[in-house]
This record gives sequence, C-alpha cells and structure tokens, in this order.
Amino acid sequence: MNILLEAHLDDISSPANLRINDQIREYREYCRAHGCTRPYHHFAFGQSPFPPPPPIIEALAANAAKHDYLPTAGLPELRDAIAAFYRRHFDLDCTGDRVVVSPGSKGMISILLSALQGTVVIPVPAWVSYLPQAKILKKEVVSIRTRREDGFRLTPDLLKNGLERCGAGQNILILNHPCNPTGVVYSESELEGLADICRLHGVVVISDEIYALTSFETDGFTSMGKVYPEGTIVTGGLSKDRSCGGYRLGVGIFPESPSRLREDVVKLGGSTYSCVASPVQYAALKAYSTDAAVEEYMRDCRTLNSLVGRRMASLLSELPGVRTTTPQGGFYLYVDFSDLRDRFKAVGVDSCDEFARHLLQIEHTALLPGTALLLPDDDFSVRCSFVDYDGAKALAEWRGNPPRTSEEEDAFIRAHCPLVVDGVGYVGRYLDQIRRGLRPEHVM
Ligand code: PMP
Repeated sequence: MNILLEAHLDDISSPANLRINDQIREYREYCRAHGCTRPYHHFAFGQSPFPPPPPIIEALAANAAKHDYLPTAGLPELRDAIAAFYRRHFDLDCTGDRVVVSPGSKGMISILLSALQGTVVIPVPAWVSYLPQAKILKKEVVSIRTRREDGFRLTPDLLKNGLERCGAGQNILILNHPCNPTGVVYSESELEGLADICRLHGVVVISDEIYALTSFETDGFTSMGKVYPEGTIVTGGLSKDRSCGGYRLGVGIFPESPSRLREDVVKLGGSTYSCVASPVQYAALKAYSTDAAVEEYMRDCRTLNSLVGRRMASLLSELPGVRTTTPQGGFYLYVDFSDLRDRFKAVGVDSCDEFARHLLQIEHTALLPGTALLLPDDDFSVRCSFVDYDGAKALAEWRGNPPRTSEEEDAFIRAHCPLVVDGVGYVGRYLDQIRRGLRPEHVM
C-alpha cells in the first residue's frame, strides 16, 4: 500500500543532535572492529551530567503504584508547589491556578505554539527544536540573527526590525535565557528594553527558562515573567537544574489575564496526552517543595557546571582563529571558527556540516554544526556542550574535597573531566593542520 504523508514534513529533518548520537554509535562500532581504541568526545549533546537528587528518586519510587490518570493541568497540590517555587526563586507573582504541567517543557512550547496566533519570531543562533516545532504546525517563522557585538543578545532594535518582517497583528517571540547555545543570560534592564517593544507591538513571549537555575550567578537571573507579566508564558521544568530530563515534566506559568489561553492549552493537552505520568507528578511535588537537599544539590551542580564551562571556554579561546562565548549558565558554548573559513575551504572542507562530520571522523570529537542552530552552512559556528564527564563521580568528589585554588580547580577538571580537556586538544590539532593548508587525516 502506498501510504501518503503530509508534504510539509519533507522539509523537517530529525534533530541533528540525535543524528550525531547515532553516528557516534556507528563510528564506535567501526573503531572496535578495526582495533582503534581512541575515545570519542561528545560535545554535540547536552543533558545534565549529574544523577537526579536522591529525594526526587525516592519520591518517584515511593509513588510507583500511583496509576490513576491525573488532571491534565497537574495535581492541584503540585501546581501550588510550583507556584510557590516560582515565587521563591524568581519573585513571580504566581498562584497554582496559573500553572500547567506538561510532558517536558518541549511539549509545553509545542502546545503553546499550536494555541497562539501569529508568526513565530526566533532569535538566532537558536535551540534546535523551535523551528521544527513551528514548521510541524505550519506557522510562519521570522528569524532574527543576533550579533557578536551585542554579545549575541536580542536587542530592542533587532526585535523591532524583525517584527517589521512579520504580519500585522499578534506575533510570538521565543526568548531563551540562559540561552542554548550561547550561554547568554539577559539582565533585568535588557529584558525591560525588549518588554517595551513587545508591549508596543502586542507580542506574546514564550520565555524558555528551562536553564534558569543553572545560571552561574543565580542572583543575576531575572525571569521575563517578572518584567512582562501580562504577555509572557514562562516555561521550565525538571530537566536541567534537577537533572530529570527523562522524567518528562515541564511547566508553563501563564499570565493572570482574562485570556482563554490556559484553558485552551489544557484542552489541547487533554486531547493529546491526557496527563503527565502520575508517579512523575508525585516525584515533582518533592522536586518543587522546599527541600534543603535539593537546593544544595542545585547549588553544587551549578558551581561545578560553571567551573567546567568557563574552563572549556578559556581552553577553546586559546586556539588561534577560534572565538567563543563565555557562558553565564546552561551547558553550552557557542564557538565561532569563521575566521578560518578560507583555510577550511582551501583543503576541501566546504561547509560547517562538513567540518563537524570530518572532525568527528578524524579526531573523534563531536560538535553541533550551526545549521542545527538556524545558521547558514557557510557560517562555521557550532554549539559545544561541556557535559561529557561522569557527573556522579565529579559531584561526589567535589562535595568531599572541593578545590580551593585555581591550580586545584585545574587539577580537578583534568582528573574528572578528561574528555573535555582532551577534546579541546583534538580540535586544536585538527585546526593546526587546517592552518598549515593540510587536510587532516585519521590517525589510530
Ligand atoms: N528548551 C531548551 C533551550 C532546551 O535545551 C531543552 C532541552 N534540551 C528544552 C527546552 C526542552 O526540555 P524538556 O522538554 O526536557 O523540558
């Protein structure tokens, strides 16, 4: 039988980070069969390297027998706990009736996009999933390229120009901070500048704050929900700061307005997935309650992340021709190799995708090419995640014997995050060849 498919799906590829995962698996098998023992450095995938906090694991196990369907919006006591969490951490004026839970914040963003009218405005470089989500829903997209000189931040002027390319009426801005891939966190006054434009033009903001509590300076993080409460839906969840990505629990915090948006989101969720898994909702109740162990866990993971991220940024920026952001949160750096573009092309590495593929083959080091971040293939910029290490071991060691000097920090990273240090070395070796006009070749 010839099964017919919707034509617009042809234009959507599967996520590049997952594709690279599959590629690494294939290459590892190839290497095993050919006696190559060099490890792979996986900087193309970003999930928390740490195990979830024990109180959350215990709560999940204790509630494994809970099997009833739960309300689509979430257990009332969970929504109250989430509202209290957002009041406590972000000073949001929030109550449980403004909270909806979802299977991951990815699910919430997708449902929001299907409920909201308007063109989707995406600052670039962007997280890999916003564009496919918009395309699946056949929504118009306007991307706004941010600039190095603005620290890759969306500015009010850039936003204004972008909105001129949208249709009249309401539009939807997806703002993401701390940003995947740049690691940028917006200050309160920067958010206010954006909020002014959004108010003027009736823009609804989906503020993707899934990395909020991974911000290296938590005092430095302001939620867009605080600055532009009437027009922002804040999304977050358990995946990053509490390392429970596979639990699939996200949240949306809705404006306190007479709009039907929240009810429509619940209606769409109920018609699509019914509810978030019951045991997970009970575990989330623990994760959002005031719990000293969970708070301490988030603080320690943040400190460790910040150390590794900043160290990797400094190692990369020592390589000639390489420019990188210094992350303020999240798990990623944005790395720009475009000063070497002509050198790449001179040895037949014609695009960023080709560079990423070749680097993986030759130096066993995976980066996520800029095309996955909505950049042109000629851009030679990539996302590099700094979480390829044994987080359980590193966290235990960190807690038992925290480094006190910068020398001890270096030694700690060399001992516990060896792939991060070695991987940068391999990138450097590859680029050395490129600079000398040689096409890098595989060495066993
Ligand atoms: N937004 C960004 C920027 C992300 O990086 C991710 C996960 N990679 C998500 C949203 C989705 O997270 P989850 O669905 O696990 O809540």
